[in-house]
Amino acid sequence: MPDTDLLILGAGASGLLCALTAARLGRRVVVVDHGREPGAKVKIAGGGRANVTNTSVGPENYLSENPRFCASALARFGTAEAVDLVRSCGLALEEREAGRLFLREPGAELVAALVRACTSLGVSFLLGREVRSACREGAGFRVETSAGAARAGRLAVALGGPAWAACGATDAGYALAKDFGLTIVAPRPGLVPFSMPKGWEFAALTGISLPVRIGCGRAVFSDQLLFTHRGLSGPAALQISSYWRPGQEIAVDLLPGQDLEAELAAVTRGGLKVKNLLAGLLPARLPALLLGPEACELPVAGLGAARRREVAARIHAWRIVPAGTLGLARAEVTLGGVDTRAVSSRTMEASGVPGLFFCGEVLDVAGWLGGYNLHWAFASGAAAGSAP
Ligand SMILES: Cc1cc2nc3c(=O)[nH]c(=O)nc-3n(C[C@H](O)[C@H](O)[C@H](O)COP(=O)(O)OP(=O)(O)OC[C@H]3O[C@@H](n4cnc5c(N)ncnc54)[C@H](O)[C@@H]3O)c2cc1C
Repeated sequence: MPDTDLLILGAGASGLLCALTAARLGRRVVVVDHGREPGAKVKIAGGGRANVTNTSVGPENYLSENPRFCASALARFGTAEAVDLVRSCGLALEEREAGRLFLREPGAELVAALVRACTSLGVSFLLGREVRSACREGAGFRVETSAGAARAGRLAVALGGPAWAACGATDAGYALAKDFGLTIVAPRPGLVPFSMPKGWEFAALTGISLPVRIGCGRAVFSDQLLFTHRGLSGPAALQISSYWRPGQEIAVDLLPGQDLEAELAAVTRGGLKVKNLLAGLLPARLPALLLGPEACELPVAGLGAARRREVAARIHAWRIVPAGTLGLARAEVTLGGVDTRAVSSRTMEASGVPGLFFCGEVLDVAGWLGGYNLHWAFASGAAAGSAP
């Protein structure tokens, strides 16, 4: 006899939305998490005020081996639904650059409101319980936890991915999926800072940030780039890191939207040096590191066409090969996960295992920076929770 209709493993953003949606449909729901409190990642997301969604959300904002998989859930739970969710919790949003919608209040308030809404509909939370394994039992499921077994007619795996383990993230969802015969797209860090070789000279610019256009392969983003003592961070580096593979080159335009070659050519007389012209355009010390001190001292008016092209290329197409990334421990998202080719895009149910659902980051769907990952957690959680 199952203890409940739906047992949800994981009380993160996707588990909470799955619980709320199913409870609204009258289902008896129990949520298990090894954390002492639900929603650990929502609380730290966006520096404490989570970037919960974006004014524009579509499959093009996600990475997956199965790129159209997320379309159905996103079509049913778009920006308007995410905004309604936040407002229904009595919270407000503010729009920042690139359509990013951030909470005005701390993320902890969103978590508290979602938990209240769930509990008022009868959802039970079993916290501080580690999920160890799960198997079929009769027509339902049996889950072993660190505090005994739990049974349910349906099981939703919302255990997230292993990125940022400091807040309780594990790969337990993958182990469970494999036990039920699903395959895993190899996990790797996404939205993660780059590390550069020891002694990298640009480390002298630590703390300096500037707008850039950054590209790797066919992916291109325009955003802020931050120099750190380890390498490169900031939104531009995080975005492109999701597309980067070890050994690949990254191209950075440090003066996006400008034509430095034309600006150099426009100086036809006088003693203005390259470093003086660039001083108004780039952070101090960056031109010397990019061009070398000698080139910086040259008078602009005396540069030939070839030299102008060379100087402009160094700045518009700065090429770097990162040594690596800071890894899953500092990644905001896990790329890869449960292979969605064996999961229904409408209900999130595993094709070969009726009653078994997956939602959120545990699936092989990872979003860009900009509210897309929490949005996916909400959208896929709502899809799983409303499955007929
Ligand atoms: C620092 C940081 C900042 C971020 N900022 C943003 C942002 O501003 N906007 C955005 O869209 N995204 C952001 N993200 C990403 C986003 O938070 C996640 O993609 C999203 O929360 C995933 O939700 P989820 O429910 O799928 O998984 P999770 O939130 O990871 O939930 C999984 C739950 O499962 C539990 N669990 C794991 N293993 C076990 C186990 N063995 N037994 C029991 N319980 C277990 C965990 O405790 C956790 O509560 C950020 C991530 C990080 C790390």
